[in-house]
Amino acid sequence: RLDERTRDIIKSTVPVLAEHGEAITTHFYKRMFEDHPELKNMFNMTHQKVGKQPRALANAVYAAAQNIDDLSAIAPAAETIAEKHVNLNIQPEHYPIVGEYLLKAIKEVLGDAVNDEIITAWGEAYGEIADVFIQIEKKKYAESAWTGYRNFNVEKKVKESEEITSFYLLPENGGSLPFYRPGQYIGLKADIPGYPYTQLRQYSLSDAPGEEYLRISVKRESGTDELPAGLVSTWLHDQVQEGDVLPLSAPAGDFYLDESGKLPVVLLSGGVGVTPLMSMYKKIREERDVYFIHAARNGGVHGLKEEMSGSRTYVIYETPSEEDKTMGAFHKAGYVDLDWLRTVVPKEADFYFCGPEGFMRAMNGSLHEWGIPEENINYEFFGPKGNI
Ligand code: FAD
Repeated sequence: RLDERTRDIIKSTVPVLAEHGEAITTHFYKRMFEDHPELKNMFNMTHQKVGKQPRALANAVYAAAQNIDDLSAIAPAAETIAEKHVNLNIQPEHYPIVGEYLLKAIKEVLGDAVNDEIITAWGEAYGEIADVFIQIEKKKYAESAWTGYRNFNVEKKVKESEEITSFYLLPENGGSLPFYRPGQYIGLKADIPGYPYTQLRQYSLSDAPGEEYLRISVKRESGTDELPAGLVSTWLHDQVQEGDVLPLSAPAGDFYLDESGKLPVVLLSGGVGVTPLMSMYKKIREERDVYFIHAARNGGVHGLKEEMSGSRTYVIYETPSEEDKTMGAFHKAGYVDLDWLRTVVPKEADFYFCGPEGFMRAMNGSLHEWGIPEENINYEFFGPKGNI
């Protein structure tokens, strides 16, 4: 356990470091990848470019440091990160490398503003924080269906919409499918011809447990004039065919349906955020009161449409096409807003949501404004934790 002096130093320097948080973590990644390019195989290199990963790391480290007197306060956040780490196969030996470069980055970015005593204190604090993660992850590895990667065959590739395609996956050499909870995701290892590093991505399992396959449903990230197309999703859509092999890490994630709950369930999804919620929906629609609200830009990009078939399902199209209108395929045009939401779903319910960041922010804001207790609100980010 850290002594009081060390903890005081940490708490008094958190604000200074936090102020320079992103500069430090950006520098940290740059230096670490220069010296250890092999680690590029473990990190999402697009998130690096976009700056999301440095931001998420900075926030996590400072939140932990702020709670250095009682690290149990970070347990809920640590759970989510640890699930991702296990899915990425992060091992205890990776932590000292990250620690070394984080300290170097603090020193190099802040220069004379930090003395040796501060650096030593941060070194010790990092060790404590790393240990919290290592212990949680050790437990998770022990419970995981397998460690590392297991090969799956693409049995079937099904186009679900203009942008979303499903992949039905079976273990390459037979064997049983893993247990998973509706809402969890797998990790997919992509070795893309011509791209120098292995890229790992997470995909939610989009069908209910108990089927004869695992299914993921992937949106093609097309890119724009300024932005390149998504690396892995484009490869999956254009290159990966039925019969090909995909290495997967075991199902993980702490965003899953609480099946012991008694309250009605409200599922709110935007775009491809439908995937984990579809798994939940199909698992419990026979057993519980479920309300499923899905927002998409229009019917053309609405994936898994036919599977949203119950009486309490509501489709909202931002800009419905003429065809959508003639088919009466949607319930409301525009957005999901609180005034409307309170007319269709009960307040006393367990809420789950997933979608693009703007959608997530709107849902989170609406549910809080409505007075939904924090413990009834659950959500998943399809990327490093953002601010909602
Ligand atoms: P990337 O190459 O990672 O690019 C991502 C985006 O960044 C693209 O829009 C791209 O245009 C943009 N970009 C690229 N380079 C730059 C740059 N230099 N500057 C700015 N922007 C840039 N996705 C699904 O489709 N279905 C799911 O069910 C699903 N489940 C998920 C579950 C979890 C828990 C998580 C964390 C993510 C999930 N995702 C899901 C997202 C998925 O993991 C990938 O992030 C997604 O497929 C995009 O990966 P990519 O390699 O195609 O794109």
